[in-house]
Amino acid sequence: QKFVYDFTEGNKDLKDLLGGKGANLAEMTNLGLPVPPGFTITTEACKEYLESGREPAGLRDEVSAHLDALEQRMGKKLGQADDPLLVSVRSGAKFSMPGMMDTVLNIGLSDASVAGLAAQLGDERFAWDSYRRLVQMFGKTVLGVDGDLFEEALENAKRAKGADSDLGLDAADLRQLVDDFKAIVAKEAGREFPQEPREQMDLAVCAVFDSWNTERAKLYRRQERIPGDLGTAVNICSMVFGNLGPDSGTGVAFTRDPASGQQGVYGDYLQNAQGEDVVAGIRNTVPLAELETIDKTSYDQLMRIMETLETHYKDLCDIEFTIERGHLWMLQTRVGKRTAAAAFRIATQLVDQGLIDEAEALRRVNGAQLAQLMFPRFDHEATDSGQIKRIGWGIAASPGAAVGKAVFDSYTAVKWSRSGEKVILIRRETNPDDLNGMIAAEGILTSRGGKTSHAAVVARGMGKTCVCGAEELEVDTKRRRLTATGPDGKPVVIEEGDLVSIDGSSGKVYLGEVPVVPSPVVEYFEGRMHAGADEADELVRAVHRIMAYADRVRRLRVRANADNAEDASRARRFGAQGIGLCRTEHMFLGERREMVERLILADTDTERDQALGALLPLQRDDFVELFEAMDGLPVTVRLLDPPLHEFLPDITELSVRVALAESRKDANENDLRLLQAVHKLHEANPMLGLRGVRLGLVIPGLFAMQVRAIAEAAAHRMAAKGDPRAEIMIPLVGTVQELEIVRDEADQVIAEVEAATGTRLRLAIGTMIELPRAALTAGQIAEAAEFFSFGTNDLTQTVWGFSRDDVEASFFTAYLEKGIFGVSPFETIDKDGVGSLVRAAAADGRATRPDLKLGVCGEHGGDPESVHFFHEVGLDYVSCSPFRIPVARLEAGRAAA
Ligand code: ADP
Ligand code: MG
Ligand code: MG
Repeated sequence: QKFVYDFTEGNKDLKDLLGGKGANLAEMTNLGLPVPPGFTITTEACKEYLESGREPAGLRDEVSAHLDALEQRMGKKLGQADDPLLVSVRSGAKFSMPGMMDTVLNIGLSDASVAGLAAQLGDERFAWDSYRRLVQMFGKTVLGVDGDLFEEALENAKRAKGADSDLGLDAADLRQLVDDFKAIVAKEAGREFPQEPREQMDLAVCAVFDSWNTERAKLYRRQERIPGDLGTAVNICSMVFGNLGPDSGTGVAFTRDPASGQQGVYGDYLQNAQGEDVVAGIRNTVPLAELETIDKTSYDQLMRIMETLETHYKDLCDIEFTIERGHLWMLQTRVGKRTAAAAFRIATQLVDQGLIDEAEALRRVNGAQLAQLMFPRFDHEATDSGQIKRIGWGIAASPGAAVGKAVFDSYTAVKWSRSGEKVILIRRETNPDDLNGMIAAEGILTSRGGKTSHAAVVARGMGKTCVCGAEELEVDTKRRRLTATGPDGKPVVIEEGDLVSIDGSSGKVYLGEVPVVPSPVVEYFEGRMHAGADEADELVRAVHRIMAYADRVRRLRVRANADNAEDASRARRFGAQGIGLCRTEHMFLGERREMVERLILADTDTERDQALGALLPLQRDDFVELFEAMDGLPVTVRLLDPPLHEFLPDITELSVRVALAESRKDANENDLRLLQAVHKLHEANPMLGLRGVRLGLVIPGLFAMQVRAIAEAAAHRMAAKGDPRAEIMIPLVGTVQELEIVRDEADQVIAEVEAATGTRLRLAIGTMIELPRAALTAGQIAEAAEFFSFGTNDLTQTVWGFSRDDVEASFFTAYLEKGIFGVSPFETIDKDGVGSLVRAAAADGRATRPDLKLGVCGEHGGDPESVHFFHEVGLDYVSCSPFRIPVARLEAGRAAA
């Protein structure tokens, strides 16, 4: 096995083996760009080292061979006393982990060679400056000495000299500093700073290997979803010196603006400096454009190299470079990270430049970026100015910027928002009862729960800003107040009605009103913004073009989950090609809850028929509006699904109310009946209880009423020359018999409506596949179903045996931390388990009925990774909340591109 590659041997496609830095150093070397010679130790070597705790056999010899070759080429030996070769030892993993791992510069310097370096380059100050940097970096990253101790010693030296930067220290000062640093090392590390060059190098290599597993590196990987077993490569690179005087320096640059995508000269440069000085903010850098006046030759060369790199990588690159006495050296490049807005702009710019085609442009952006662009945002100038107090910091659960008056319960949220107030709903955590309040609020803030908590999931679905799990905030819903700690450490109390601002992109919570700027991209999707000339419009044009590519190539259709005309219309503007899930239970809330109560309490057929009779016209009107909004497009209506107790008062509350009333001897007859009903309907496990198709089979007339409402609404729309395309969906079917019974009843009702109205209705009847048994018997079920819609929320719940409402709070965090899954299976479909059931059920269903329509509804329909999976298994459409539609369209396009 080969563990070491010379820069001339690698290329940019070997990132797995050589890491990003090593692969790109090799690529630049082979492009003929000025890269200081060196070699890369592979990630394989690192993996072996981390597994066994020892350097792999043969590694040392291989390194020696490459070092020999390097020394030959450079005409000097590592650490050679009269003319030392110096190298840097640099970490570099496959995915860039900025600042997470270690790099040591100036390896090879020692008491013996520092004078040789001074003599060779004719600069004593420089030699001692390089040496003190080595002892400092080596002490900190290899020997684990607290870096502050070196910083303090440096500060003391500057203070003693009255110097305001390290440039004020002369050779003698720096020489003294080296002694001080060495003393710190001896004291803190319990060993002398190693003088032997090869020992320095080998220790540094192992330190880089070890840095893969530091706590902060692990944390970063978890957050960025980088696998933990990749390991890092190590690059040994001969040193070039930016700290050789004013004609030397070091800098960073981008080939275009990573914030906006605009072409131009972006970067920073620092004269007479080395390594991290530029980013460390030790001295003030100058904008890269000024390099033109400092050193025009190097500047021009750099511009040419940047152009070469862009053309070669066909993308924005970022660059690290050093100038040594007027000679430019390239030390790093990679395809640069960028903001969401820049990603879209750059992708279309590159198409225009002829560097990439449209399919590639689609691959260069993603749904998460598009979602980001759709949220309004805070004006960062305001938050950075320090005038606005930050009072908390939670989890950035659903991006966006929301400002409003603090309210602590859903009732107040709804009431205030009706009277035109903007509110932020603040709860410890939310539950389904808070839905109305969440809808009414500008944003949601909770002190408990993570990215998959109820508040977070619902908010994301609604496109609503949410910060959750802001644990240092003390939420007291009873007294309607929130206690936080101000920036000065003193407690701040926020009462109901006080203004707060929450930033769902950063998780930060502010007291008072932070100004927001609306998202031009939403304005565009809403049809309120068209092409123009200012900066925002360039972004809009880019989004417009990319969406057009996506729509052109995608095979998956995209529908919306919507249950009212307003959402339906928005969904349509956003590009929905129908409604994939209209939840009828949402039509039974509010004032209609009472009617449902009457239905549940009905003792006789007459009472029940009356209750249903009262609901029928209301349902019908809802459907008429919905079919009108979606004229010409399919609308899948799901018959009532949730357990009935959800429409009744909470059992504890009601019990207390009745008990209190009884003690006062004025118990109310209706409450008593309600309590009885609540007890009767109470289930230990309601999600697996009387719900879905089971309701239709047990409560006479319920589904028939809903089907009648749908059929009559469709007939009404046809009479009005509309084009209704309703599809009736039966939830929670586990066996074809259930479906057949409900279906017979539905067919009969439809026939009645057809006869009564003299219209021929074409209503499709299908089912959800959301129980394992349904998936396993999909071939049979397809006999009675014209379409399947995979209810992947319930399917995930039942396949894993997870209760969605409980597990996220109880053990998901532990599961995520232990790596049992990288992401909640409720967020991204579990391809191996739930996904394979979907795949098999789709195939079995189609084997029975080749024209069976297949879709998916639920959270996964708008999740990028899941959308790709649904494309791959050949579904016809995904359905998601209106705000996710552009994301689903884009991802469906990317899946097909
Ligand atoms: P990071 O991964 O944190 O960017 P690098 O390995 O790129 O770490 O090293 C940080 C900086 O050190 C580089 O940007 C460069 O300025 C400097 N550096 C690294 N190797 C050399 C070298 N061989 N000669 C001169 N400077 C170097
Ligand atoms: Mg770097
Ligand atoms: Mg379901």
